[in-house]
Amino acid sequence: DFDILIVGGGHAGAQAAITLRQGKFTGSIGLISAESFAPYERPPLSKDYLAGEKDFDRILIRPESFWAEQDITLLLDHEVTAVDPGAHRVTTADGKSYGYGQLIWATGGTPRRLEVPGHDPQNMHVIRYRSDVDPLMASLPQTNRVAVIGGGYIGLEAAAVMRKFGKEVAVIEAMERVMARVAGEPLSRYYEAEHTAQGVDMRLNAKLSSFKITGQKVTGVTLESGETLPCDMVIVGIGIDPVVAPLLEVGATGGNGVRVDAHCRTSLPDVFAIGDCALHQNKFADGAWVRLESVQNANDQARVVAKTILGKPASYEAIPWFWSDQYDLHLQTIGLSLGHDDMVVRGHPKDRSFSVVYLKKGRVIALDCVNRPADYAQGRLLIMQGASPAHDQLRNINVELKEMAG
Ligand code: FAD
Repeated sequence: DFDILIVGGGHAGAQAAITLRQGKFTGSIGLISAESFAPYERPPLSKDYLAGEKDFDRILIRPESFWAEQDITLLLDHEVTAVDPGAHRVTTADGKSYGYGQLIWATGGTPRRLEVPGHDPQNMHVIRYRSDVDPLMASLPQTNRVAVIGGGYIGLEAAAVMRKFGKEVAVIEAMERVMARVAGEPLSRYYEAEHTAQGVDMRLNAKLSSFKITGQKVTGVTLESGETLPCDMVIVGIGIDPVVAPLLEVGATGGNGVRVDAHCRTSLPDVFAIGDCALHQNKFADGAWVRLESVQNANDQARVVAKTILGKPASYEAIPWFWSDQYDLHLQTIGLSLGHDDMVVRGHPKDRSFSVVYLKKGRVIALDCVNRPADYAQGRLLIMQGASPAHDQLRNINVELKEMAG
């Protein structure tokens, strides 16, 4: 039994354990993970780890020895399948049971897959865990043509890496533009043009109809238009489903994620939830219920829970930020553009350095900054202050954003 039991060994779970020990928590801490590896960073899986530029050791959140040194018990290869909130116990798939004083649920989400009825094709991959990516990388030498399904961040990052390897790449996006869920149209159009210039066959409004199967492999992706794009690898990047069933089954409030309050408490006694699986009211979305999928959110919510457990209750109010690397384009996002009613493009996309500023009722609520780190840093100020600079001012790159802060 553990005083604190953390379920999930990703960014959120690891950070919660780390912050508890940093805060001199002396009770017992158990960290259960369905994965076989000590906590590691997920973003490199579609970036430099996938590109073979960074070894696994370099993406570990802490060195392998850290956990034992900090007296944090790692229980790897254990999937929690049930929670008994009355008895304060969890059960794992292999029938083991662990008691807890307080439970921190940090399970993230499982990648959505595409079913091919009657088949389990070996060359269809998702990118979420190391166990997804290593087999993908191992089959690259036999791969020439890659079909990426989904034009979100992960699909586009994977497409960029595949181009670096010289593969023929097609990106198949069902919507009218890439990154439609998270970015404004100017950003989408810029990235579409960039991928096209890099040799990617970009297919927008392209709905999948079926897969062509030969043996145990997908050898073509057929679109509703009737066209078949030949391929010898498929990468599916169509989002995740939060892992919350064991909590919802015992009455936790939620749906697409488990609902938490400002201290990341679920509706179950002594059960917190953090990271990709936590549905929370975000101040930067006017208090709307959101589930953020970012390292920032995972780490900051972990810190809130650790502080609350340490007796210094904190509320989750951190400003959201995110990044994405594709080719030589370093995108940094600050704030949440959700609900924007206006946009200003600052700088010139052709210079490979520009920002999209999102406004709502005249106030700056978010920025997407492409190779413009100063805008990213200074834009934060504008958002925090609810500043409302004129469009002309925002457009003028000779004036720094910080000069527009009040
Ligand atoms: P996860 O990191 O998913 O960790 C969840 C852990 O829980 C996993 O170890 C899982 O095995 C385990 N688990 C799940 N269910 C159970 C169970 N029932 N029992 C036990 N263990 C369980 N964010 C950014 O900010 N910037 C980026 O550039 C970026 N790039 C990304 C690229 C990729 C390829 C991916 C997949 C994600 C990326 N993200 C990025 C998102 C970011 O990685 C996630 O938001 C973050 O990992 C969330 O942390 P988490 O701890 O909530 O979930």
